[in-house]
Amino acid sequence: IDKNPAEPEFHQAVHEVLLSLASFLEENPHYINSGILERMVEPERIIIFRVPWVNDVGKIIVNRGYRIEMNSAIGPYKGGLRFHPTVNLGILKFLAFEQVFKNSLTTLPLGGGKGGSDFDPKGKSDSEVMRFCQSFMTELYRHIGHNTDIPAGDIGVGGREIGYLFGQYKRITNEFTGTLTGKGVNWDGSYIRPEATGYGNVYFAEEMLNTRHESIKGKTVLISGSGNVAQFSAEKVNDLGGKVVTLSDSNGYIYDPNGIDKSKLKFVMQLKNIERGRIKEYAEKYNVKYVENETPWKEKADIALPSATQNEITKDDARSLIANGCICISEGANMPCTPKAIEIIIQNKLLYGPGKAANAGGVAVSGLEMSQDSMRLNWTREEVDARLKNIMKEIHKTCIKYGTKPGGYVNYMDGANIGGFVKVADTMIDLGTV
Ligand code: NDP
Repeated sequence: IDKNPAEPEFHQAVHEVLLSLASFLEENPHYINSGILERMVEPERIIIFRVPWVNDVGKIIVNRGYRIEMNSAIGPYKGGLRFHPTVNLGILKFLAFEQVFKNSLTTLPLGGGKGGSDFDPKGKSDSEVMRFCQSFMTELYRHIGHNTDIPAGDIGVGGREIGYLFGQYKRITNEFTGTLTGKGVNWDGSYIRPEATGYGNVYFAEEMLNTRHESIKGKTVLISGSGNVAQFSAEKVNDLGGKVVTLSDSNGYIYDPNGIDKSKLKFVMQLKNIERGRIKEYAEKYNVKYVENETPWKEKADIALPSATQNEITKDDARSLIANGCICISEGANMPCTPKAIEIIIQNKLLYGPGKAANAGGVAVSGLEMSQDSMRLNWTREEVDARLKNIMKEIHKTCIKYGTKPGGYVNYMDGANIGGFVKVADTMIDLGTV
């Protein structure tokens, strides 16, 4: 904490992993003797840079850009870019740290990284977003590459932003390589990448439910957020016969007791991705409840899929969810549950899928996009979806292997943390003092 002041989210992420690892490390002291932990919490490299750009009225705006190259033991740095006004070094370090474990769990050769900027795309014109992205890439390009560091999207970085970033990268380097993932299918992207995090989270929840002879079918589901992860989680829940009753954004949530079906979801996608409107407009269109400045966790449901941001489920929210009969919480977002909330969820023996495992489908399909880019060919939707499903099953198995407690309860958080750690730690030992 002294070495990394004012980084509470990073401390939180590291603390959670260390708690999970404690008894495993006692049984395997060679990891401690090799200084693995000290090395894993120190990023291999941090790049911080100025991003000047000109807004639509000719004013020069200066944002701050970051790339955290956290760990490249098992593959090139891989992780998203987040554009949001709350972005700072500590948040990106937490995300990069989590990414190392997540990428290890995918079974693919991917190291961990994360980056972004305090730029807020909300309320900006397309030209402003483009000028910002071009300026951001004009510095970032020299640090990344298809064999070095491969960024992708995250909050505030979707298909539009990846397009502008990739366009500028290609222009500066005069190369067409898969240095970014989340690209459009016309320009070397992969089918199912936009869907992958949401679909993957629902596949993971289904795996967890199956262990208790349950399934998504017939279940009521709370989802927070209304961006990429939320939209495709909702789509997959609908496909599997569940009913989604909430979505949200940073201003509030909507509650639709009849379910956000396929046609209503189409409206949400148009509203959020094209018109860049607010979720409140859903409530106005379909005449349902809208609750301002609240999260959806006080509503009654069987399953919760937090898909907005970190620390969005507090201990009180966890208590409400449990009191309302929730049996499964699976994290589409990164670190959406506070440590106290997790404690309560686990004490009550819910099925709890931590983000590192449950939302790893996004980066997994990014890994598949990298393979397709290298081979210069495109797999079909069905092929990518089948591979995604299989990867989520493998991640689930790893969690069971390392997370099953005496008595049979599966602590997926411990399972994901230990399972993700072992591959990276063993490799770091093989590679010497790196
Ligand atoms: P988007 O930008 O597409 O959507 C984010 C959604 O969350 C929006 O509805 C946004 O509302 C809401 N939100 C963001 N910040 C806050 C906040 N502080 N309080 C309340 N609501 C907020 O991002 P994604 O869907 O891509 O990402 C969502 C989460 O999933 C993040 O935690 C991300 O790290 C994680 N994730 C994403 C992956 C991906 O492939 N995209 C992969 C793995 C994890 P508003 O419109 O008002 O900002």
